[in-house]
Amino acid sequence: MSKQLDCGHADDWNGAGCHDANGKSICKVCANAAALADFNASSEKQFAYVSGDLQSVTSWGGGVLARITSRGPVRKLHTPSGGFYESQAIRAVDALGREWAGRGPGAGMYVRLTLVKAGM
Ligand SMILES: [Zn+2]
Repeated sequence: MSKQLDCGHADDWNGAGCHDANGKSICKVCANAAALADFNASSEKQFAYVSGDLQSVTSWGGGVLARITSRGPVRKLHTPSGGFYESQAIRAVDALGREWAGRGPGAGMYVRLTLVKAGM
């Protein structure tokens, strides 16, 4: 039997756990809903993740925040120490019709988003 969390739902994190800003334990569904509400409430620069299938921008819990509409080429960029990292530009549109531009290492990785077009 899975234990019940403070949000009133069963623990769906497989033991990884999650707490909200007030320290209450919350399930993945509630965490993703909270992340989406935060995302939709903000028009500042946002930090999110690119889904493994490159179709959407998600919260760290995997909840969809915006749909990716275009992707640029993957660029290999060199670091001062002689290594390299990959960088890919994306565009995404969220549920409010706002368009975001971002850049990050690619699928399953982080992306920093900047608002480029306000919604309706
Ligand atoms: Zn919950």
